[in-house]
Amino acid sequence: MTDAAKFIAIDGPAGSGKSSVSKAVARGEGYGYLDTGAAYRALAWHVLDRGADTSDEQAVLAAASDFPLRQGLDPDDRRVHVGDVDVTEAIREPRVSAAVSGVARVPAVRAQVNEAFRRMVAEAPYDAVVVEGRDITTVVAPDAPVRILLTAAPEVRAARRAAELSGEDAAAVATALHQRDAKDSAVVDFLTAAPGVDVVDSSELDFAQTIAAVLAVIAERRGERHG
Ligand code: C5P
Repeated sequence: MTDAAKFIAIDGPAGSGKSSVSKAVARGEGYGYLDTGAAYRALAWHVLDRGADTSDEQAVLAAASDFPLRQGLDPDDRRVHVGDVDVTEAIREPRVSAAVSGVARVPAVRAQVNEAFRRMVAEAPYDAVVVEGRDITTVVAPDAPVRILLTAAPEVRAARRAAELSGEDAAAVATALHQRDAKDSAVVDFLTAAPGVDVVDSSELDFAQTIAAVLAVIAERRGERHG
C-alpha cells in the first residue's frame, strides 16, 4: 500500500503543460512537487554517461543498480543530481529526450523508480505532493484521491514544446515529440483516462485557465475526502 492520500496524481503526454502547471499548483498551494519524468531522464543521462546505449537493456539495468539520484520535492528547487553531478540542464537536452524511452520501457526499472517515488511522497514534509508523469494515476498511486489526466491536441503540444526549445527547428521538435509519445504509449497508456480519472484538456486554455481547471478538480476531490 502507498500513502496514497498525499498524492495529487497528474499524468499526460509531453507538451500538455503538465510540468509547468503542476509546479505552479504546488507552489500556490504549499504542496510538494515531484517530476517523475526527471528521474527517468536522469537515469537515461546516467546510462549515456557510462558510455552505454539505452537500447541495451543489460546496460540500463546495470546503470539502474548504481544510480545515486538526488531529487527534492521543493517546487522552487528543481535541481536534479546524479551523485555529485548537477544534471538539471543536461537532462533536457534532445539527446537525453531521444534516449529516455529506452530506460522507461524496462519493467524492473519502472518498479524500482516507482518504489522510490512512493517513498519520497510518504516521507515528504508536505500535506500533499503533486506527482506528475505518465503512470501516476494508474500504477504509482491508483488509489490517490486526486487523479488528473492533462491532455492537449497533438499540434498544440508540439507548438508549445517548440516554443520552449527556441533554438531548435520546430518541425524537428514536433517529429521528436510524436516519436517519443509513440514509444512511451506502447509502455503506459497516458492518452486515455482510466476510470475515475478527471480529464483536463488544455488545448483551448491558457496557462492561468489550466491552473484554475486543475485547482477546481483538486478542491472537488479533496473536499469530497474531507467530507
Ligand atoms: O515528463 P517527461 O517528458 O520529462 O518524461 C520523460 C520520459 O520519462 C518520458 O518520455 C517517458 O519515457 C518517461 N516517463 C515514464 N513514466 C513516467 C514519467 C516519465 O515512463 N511516470
